[in-house]
Amino acid sequence: MNEFEVIPPRSGVAFELREGQTLTVYDPLGSQVADLLAFAADDVREVISNGRTFDYEETISLTTGNRLWSNRSQVLLEIVEDAVGRHDFLLTPCSEATFRHFYPDKPVHRGCFGNLAEALAPYGVEPDAIPTAFNLFMNVPVEAGSGKLSVLPPTSRAGDWIALLARRDCIIGLTACSAYASNGGTFKPIHYRISNERPFSREVDDRSGEAQTLHHRHD
Ligand SMILES: [Zn+2]
Repeated sequence: MNEFEVIPPRSGVAFELREGQTLTVYDPLGSQVADLLAFAADDVREVISNGRTFDYEETISLTTGNRLWSNRSQVLLEIVEDAVGRHDFLLTPCSEATFRHFYPDKPVHRGCFGNLAEALAPYGVEPDAIPTAFNLFMNVPVEAGSGKLSVLPPTSRAGDWIALLARRDCIIGLTACSAYASNGGTFKPIHYRISNERPFSREVDDRSGEAQTLHHRHD
C-alpha cells in the first residue's frame, strides 16, 4: 500500500503533479475541507478557473466525470472518483480578512490563503494570482430562487476521498482548511497520495453503492 502524506490542521502544501498521475485526497476524520489549486507547471499564470469550469461543465455541482478548466480554457484536472459528491467552487480561500469579517471575536488566522501563498511562492505564484480554489468536501448549498448561500458542515465521513487525474503537468496547492463554519467548528488533518494510475478501483466498486446513497441523501 502506498504511503500517504499528511497535511496538519490549518496548514497547506504545494507539489508537482505530472500529467497522467492521480491525486487522491482523503478526509481521514470526516467533515474537513481541503482547498485545492492547480496551476500549469510550464506557466503558472495559467490556473484553474471556476467561471470557465462552470461554463464548460454546465453545472456548479462538480463530481466524477467533471473536468477543472483553466483561465485559458484548457483542462488541467479531471475528477475520476468521488465518494462524497459535494464540493464548492464558489467561495475564495479563507484569509485574515475572512476571519476579521466573520469571526471578529476569535483569533485571526492567515487561513488557506496565507497557507497557499507561502506554499506556492517557491513555484513563482504571487499572492494576487491565487484565484477561487476548488474546495474539496466544502458544503455550500445555493438556495433556489434567491441564490442565497450557506456554509454548512461537510457531508464527508471518515475515510472519504476524491481522486483527480492530471491532464497536464500541474503545480498543486492543497490545504487543511482553517475556517470554523466550513469544517463544522473543528480543525482536522487532510491526507493525500499521488499514484501513477487510477487507484483503488476495487475499493471504489465496493463502495459505489454507499457513495450513491450519500449523494442522494444530500440532494
Ligand atoms: Zn480555508
